[in-house]
Amino acid sequence: MTSSSNALEKLPAKPRRLRQAPTKSAQPEAVGRKAPVKAFRERNCSVGRTIDAIGDGWTFMVLRECYFNVRKFEKFQDILQLPRTTLAARLNALTDEGLLRQVQYSDRPPRYEYALTKVGVDLYPVMLALMSFGDKWLAGKQGKPLQLVHQACGKQCTALVICSECREEVLPSRVSYRDGPGAGTSPVRPGRKGRRSADPTALERRRPSSVARALKVIGDRWSFMIIREGFFRIRRFDELQTGLGIAPNILADRLGRLVADGVFERVKYQSLPDRFEYKFTEKGKDLFGPLIAMLRWGDEWLSGGEPPLILTHLDCGHDFHAVVACDQCREALVANQMRYVMNYRDPNPQ
Ligand SMILES: [Zn+2]
Ligand SMILES: [Zn+2]
Repeated sequence: MTSSSNALEKLPAKPRRLRQAPTKSAQPEAVGRKAPVKAFRERNCSVGRTIDAIGDGWTFMVLRECYFNVRKFEKFQDILQLPRTTLAARLNALTDEGLLRQVQYSDRPPRYEYALTKVGVDLYPVMLALMSFGDKWLAGKQGKPLQLVHQACGKQCTALVICSECREEVLPSRVSYRDGPGAGTSPVRPGRKGRRSADPTALERRRPSSVARALKVIGDRWSFMIIREGFFRIRRFDELQTGLGIAPNILADRLGRLVADGVFERVKYQSLPDRFEYKFTEKGKDLFGPLIAMLRWGDEWLSGGEPPLILTHLDCGHDFHAVVACDQCREALVANQMRYVMNYRDPNPQ
């Protein structure tokens, strides 16, 4: 079985349309109201599906080692120093989701290693988009841990998220949204939403990592959903609560963290009673690139060819998807054309 068919079998059934498209999805669907009390429904979203597929911080870190050509269980173990059961669970989950496949490398005894599938390789640009964010905002005095070199043009580069049509950078204020063929709502899968990430400090135990730092800011699914709503211009507590079906205490907690991390600023928009909305800082706005890169990946591999959301780039007037490109030559970055210069000691020297 090929990797991609493996992944496609994981597709959720085609989502039922609950309501006819209300066009501009800048307005949230109040999905909770029509649903039965028990099963909250949420907007179909390729970002949410991507977050589900790659799970948590540890999963991301396992994948990261894959991009550094780590394949064997013991090697992952050696570098990440995870409990074996945790590591095995993450590798199995990634295999189930179709991002990795097992390859037998020894007959007696039978032994397997893990190789990236096409689906997994295609997540690499998302990783680079997160890395750019971490490099820019979270690197501190030490500077960025890793310098990318794009072999296609031979230059040191950073990843830039650009429009597939005009090849220019995409600002969040210059995008409009409308429902795509896969729009609608689906039941929330139990146990998914509240899951917290791995201890963020542990993620950098062996490698300093801008991706890990970015995940620390946006690490759990709720935070990511709140950030997503922000880009749909949903910025007020009540609207967020209704749109996401999130418990008020959890929403308050996540908003508090996002403010503390400098993603949002809290701005009063009404007095007596005081009410606040949450506006992106410059740093927060820079999460748009990673977010639409995730959206593109989810559309490609998890939407069954029916993207829930279509993006239009107002600068060029075209529907587009995100491309993670070299800032020097503007070509799309792919995994096998990258070299790295490490600003730290490599825990896995070749
Ligand atoms: Zn464009
Ligand atoms: Zn280049």
